[in-house]
Order: sequence, then C-alpha cells, then structure tokens
Amino acid sequence: MSPPIELLSSVFGFDEFRPGQAEIVEAVTSGQNTLAIMPTGGGKSLCFQLPALCRDGVTVVISPLIALMRDQVRALRQAGVEAGALTSGNTEEETAEVFEALDSGRMKLLYMAPERLASGGTVNLLRRIGVSMIAVDEAHCVSQWGHDFRPDYLRIGELRSDLDVPLAAFTATADEETRTEIIERLFAGQRPEVFLQGFDRPNIHLAFQVKNGPRQQILSFAAARKGQSGIVYCGTRAKTEGIAQALRQADHSACHYHGGMDAQDRRGVEARFQREDGLIVVATIAFGMGIDKPDIRWVAHADLPKSIEGYYQEIGRAGRDGAPAETLTLFGPDDIRFRRTQIDEGLAPPERRMADHGRLNTLLGLAEARHCRRQVLLAYFGESAEPCGKCDLCDTPADLFDGTVAVRKALSAILRTGEYFGAGHLIDILLGNETDKVRERGHDGLPTFGVGKEYDKRQWQAVFRQMMGYDLVRPDPERHGALRMTERARPILRDEETIELRRDTIRHAPRRPAVKTLVSEEDAPLLSALKAKRRALAEAANVPAYIIFNDRTLIEMAEKRPISLDAMAQVNGVGAKKLESYGAAFLEIITGDTPDEMHPARRKLAGRNAAQLFDRLQDAQGALCRGVDGSGKYLTCSSATLRHIAERQPSDLRAMAYIPGMTEQKTDRFGHAFLEILAEDVS
Ligand code: ADP
Ligand code: ZN
Repeated sequence: MSPPIELLSSVFGFDEFRPGQAEIVEAVTSGQNTLAIMPTGGGKSLCFQLPALCRDGVTVVISPLIALMRDQVRALRQAGVEAGALTSGNTEEETAEVFEALDSGRMKLLYMAPERLASGGTVNLLRRIGVSMIAVDEAHCVSQWGHDFRPDYLRIGELRSDLDVPLAAFTATADEETRTEIIERLFAGQRPEVFLQGFDRPNIHLAFQVKNGPRQQILSFAAARKGQSGIVYCGTRAKTEGIAQALRQADHSACHYHGGMDAQDRRGVEARFQREDGLIVVATIAFGMGIDKPDIRWVAHADLPKSIEGYYQEIGRAGRDGAPAETLTLFGPDDIRFRRTQIDEGLAPPERRMADHGRLNTLLGLAEARHCRRQVLLAYFGESAEPCGKCDLCDTPADLFDGTVAVRKALSAILRTGEYFGAGHLIDILLGNETDKVRERGHDGLPTFGVGKEYDKRQWQAVFRQMMGYDLVRPDPERHGALRMTERARPILRDEETIELRRDTIRHAPRRPAVKTLVSEEDAPLLSALKAKRRALAEAANVPAYIIFNDRTLIEMAEKRPISLDAMAQVNGVGAKKLESYGAAFLEIITGDTPDEMHPARRKLAGRNAAQLFDRLQDAQGALCRGVDGSGKYLTCSSATLRHIAERQPSDLRAMAYIPGMTEQKTDRFGHAFLEILAEDVS
C-alpha cells in the first residue's frame, strides 16, 4: 500500500496536510483508538478516508445525516475510491451495488446511518465483510449533554467491542463534558489518543457593524459579493422572507428558509443551495445542520446571534474549502435587549440563565471589541493569538476615547431616577431636554439634568449600547426593560476603574464597501470561464459543482494558469482521477487549445517526479530502438512498462528484469541506459 502522503496527492489531489491532519492520519492508520476534535472545515473526513485506503479491509463510517453521507460517497467515487452507503435513502440498485462491492472485497469505505446498528443483521453483516476499523463522524451525537443527541449512537460502543477493531471518533464540539462522555460511551472509558485542533479559521474574515438601516447594510454587503454563495441569518421567520425578497429585487438569486416551512419546501431549498453556485439563503438558525457546502463564500447576521457558540458555529459554515470567506454581524441595542429578555423569560433554571447571560456577554464583548476580534474570539476557546490582520479592527483600528466620565454620568442618571427608565428618557435627562415626561417626573430638577451636552442623542445611544455590551447595565424585564446597574459597573462609579469606549461606532455607518473579488481583476474573466465549465460538467453529471473542483482549486487554476496536464496535476485539489476526468476540459479553457493526447500510462504519472523520469526513459529508449549502432532489430517498451520503471525505480539489472514487460532482450538493450537515468535521479 502507498504511504498516506502519496495517496493525499494522487487520490485527493492535495499537496499537503492541513494543520493536525498528518498526526491524526498516522494514529488512525496505525490502528490506534483516536478522538479528534477539529473545527468545522478543518478537514475531518480526510482523517478517516485516507487511513481507510491505507488499511486492509473495510472501514465502516457512522454518520448521522443521510444527505451528507451521500455527498461524501459521491465525492469519493469521483476521486476513484470504492465507497458506498447503506441508508434508507438508497434505491434497490444502489444497495445491490454496495453488496456486490462488499462481496467482491473491493469496498474500502462503507457509510452507514446509526439506526442500522439496531438490527442484528447489520452486526452480522459487518462481522462477515471483514471490517477493520470504525470511524464515527459527529461523535458528539453520543452525548446527552449536547443538543444533537442520537440514541442510536449508544450502540457504537458495543459494536466496537463486538468487532474488536480500532475506532476513530471525530467532532467539532470540544467542551470538557462532551469529550468525557464520548470517551466513556465509545471507548468504554479507555482513553483513546486525543487530538485537539485549534479553533482558528484563518480564512474567515470577521466584522461587526452597529445597525444603521440594517436591510440596506445587508444589501450592500451582498452587492459587493454578487454571484457568490452566502447565508443571511435572521432573528425571526418573518424577516427571512422580507430580506430574501429585497435581495431578489436587487437582482440576486435568493430564497428564504425557516423552521415553519413544511419539510418538503425546506429540503428543496437545501438541495438547491447545495447544488447551485451563487444562491443566497436567508434563514433562521434552523438552516445549518445538514448543510455541507464547502464553498459558502460569506455569512451575514442581520441580527445578533444568541451566544458566542452560536456565532462561531454559524460563521464557521463559510469557507470550509479554505478559500477566503467573509462575515458581517449586525447588532444594536434592540438586539441586546431582545436576547437578554429571551434569557430572562426562558424556562431554564436560574444557574443556567446566569450562564446564558455570561455567554451573551462574551458575544457582546466581541461585538464591542476594541482590538483584534480574532484574539477575543479565540481567547474564549482558551487560545491566544497575535493580531490577525483579517478582521475589521485589524483593517481599521478602533478609535477609542476615555469614556469613564460619560459612563459615570449615565450611571448617575440611572441611579438618581431609581433604575426605572430606559435609555431614551435617560438621554433626554442627560441632554437637558424638557420633555413632558421629564417635567411630569420633576427630572429637570436632578443634578444630572443637562450634564451631557457634549454629546448628541446618537452618541449617547452608542454610549448606552456599549454599557449594555460590557454588561455595566442590564434591562430588567420586570420593569419593562428599564436599565439597572450591575455589580460590574460599581468600580467605575466609585472612580476605581476607567473604561475606554469606541468613538467610531458612534459615527455614521461606513460608506458603501468596494466590490470584493476572489482573484485579481486580471484573473477574474478566466475564473468565471472556469466556473462556467464546472457548472456545465456538474449539470451533466448531476452533482453539485464543488464535487467537480472546489472554488479554491479553480482560483488556483486561474492564478497559476497551468499549460500542460503535468502542471495541472500540481494544482491543489487535482488528483489523478480528476485529472483524468476533467483535466483536459479545464486545460482547454485556460490555453484555448485542445491539449495533446497523452498515453494513459503517462497521464497517471502527471505532475509527479516519476513523470520526468518517464519522459527521459522514453527519450533513451527512442535513441536505442535500433541498438547502439543503429543496425539492431527494432525494439521498444510499452508505456505501461516505462511507467512501472519510473515508479518502482529498480536499482540493478536483476530488479529491472522483474518489471512486467521487460523481456531478456529488452533488458539487454535498454537496461544499462535506464539504470543510468535512474541513478542520476536520486534527488
Ligand atoms: P469538516 O468535516 O472538518 O468540516 P471536511 O472534511 O468536509 O471538513 O473538509 C472541508 C474541506 O476541506 C473539503 O472541501 C475538503 O476537500 C478540504 N480539505 C480537506 N483536507 C485538505 C487538505 N489537506 N488540503 C486541501 N483541502 C483539504
Ligand atoms: Zn484581527
């Protein structure tokens, strides 16, 4: 069997492992029990697919979502790997095909839904077909602690001990409780080798904006990314329909999605999104689980998400292919009020509500961040990082000012009015506005009346919003959202601490952003031509576009512009099988010319070191076809034989004679010359 790194390029077409993959692949291939925690898009699938190819026997993959299994199987087949799925969605022919591949011993990866494990027949089948490893995707489904609990996952532990084979578990959920539960239930408490991969998703750009005409903000964000697939998350179902319509009016291809739609309509949207290039789905958070599209180029939040975990998960759906992706999260004081009230009025027990407030606070801290957002986000996951250069605050540093005096004035207005009023009335007091309400309550006689004239109304709103964001004040649902001071604010009130506020979010929203493209202006026309070719091929094969090649691969093609199949094979994402299926078609787009026919044996080597060897062997044999003196009998080796020599690199004449097709005559004629070429090549 070839070593993993070779299969990585020949089957999957990748030059190198992503961070963490190499170690995991090594552990899994060597048959150790493993638990790998990797962020979404980190490339988990490869960590069991590659070992499955390196090991004898069948690897059973347990995965909770039928649609995802079918996609993975399809993608593997495209790469020339024997894979199949047994799911309730199979047609009879599909199932028959799977059994045929199993019986003939060809099958390498068998995907299976956990429900199947309930039947004794399945376990017998698995015993019979020589399963040598179990891989468990989304392993957190075994945990009752999380929200994705799947009772059938509990059978996996038993299956492992029944079959007595190594098990590799994968998840993106990393909290301590879930991890402990996975180890207990899948590995019967025996500690597997645990790999914990960092949470950073460096290709995702982070940005927040204060709401200021939110619909227009979303529209201009989308306009700058026209034609790219994206998701807009909204807080309410009604809003999804409105924004989707506005996007369509602006000439985007867009549709809405929420939990209130019937199942068939929802599936329709999911299927369209998965398949189409450039569709925007405007959705509630119901849209996500079951979406495995690697080329989502942007995610926007029209409303503030519920918690930092929710935020991370939702933006994490973008850019799984590793190509640049962008995000924008809008928030405003109403969002903060809405989320606080939601927690306070929820049915959760008090300690849970406390924790929920805490997680909302972390998200608000991120929204109001004063320096690199990625540092703030990663700090939540316990990781430290340098300023990232890929967030709005790295792009344009925040304009900060000492807000201690302003905050103290605001707190004073709150306390002197008995913590019974919302921001609107408090701002009137600070500005010295003699409204009816101010006069009725006698608030014009307060010492705080009119002390805040250095700012206008809008600026005070921003101060109050940031105070809510830092959890210095909280709306009290029992007092209709009146602001009350928290313990956190006390040191500032007592002059023991100072606080910095952002001035830039107080000003007007930024100008319309420049159009964002994935490649330079010069390469853009080629990229769209490559995409058009991909779309045509995908439609003909009835598969999603990214199954042919993902965005990242097309971007690289547009930038590197390979002019031969050898060069094409060097592009990330172009494996041997895909080179064979699609290489020529895409090369033709790039060069505008039909590429020269290449012998299949030679094409198999394309882009590898062995390819150059092959070419030199071929030249050498051409020179010797009639012997050294040019009078001998005409002799040549077949391309297949040359390929074997280039790959196996025999070190002496005896080894050379073992190469299929190397007769005694041919070894006599070419052997020495070939060995010389091979010896030069010990690079
Ligand atoms: P996860 O399941 O961890 O969210 P996937 O396994 O779906 O992620 O992989 C995400 C994307 O990354 C896929 O499009 C996959 O082809 C790609 N990918 C995985 N490993 C590599 C690699 N070593 N080099 C380049 N792309 C990779
Ligand atoms: Zn940054």
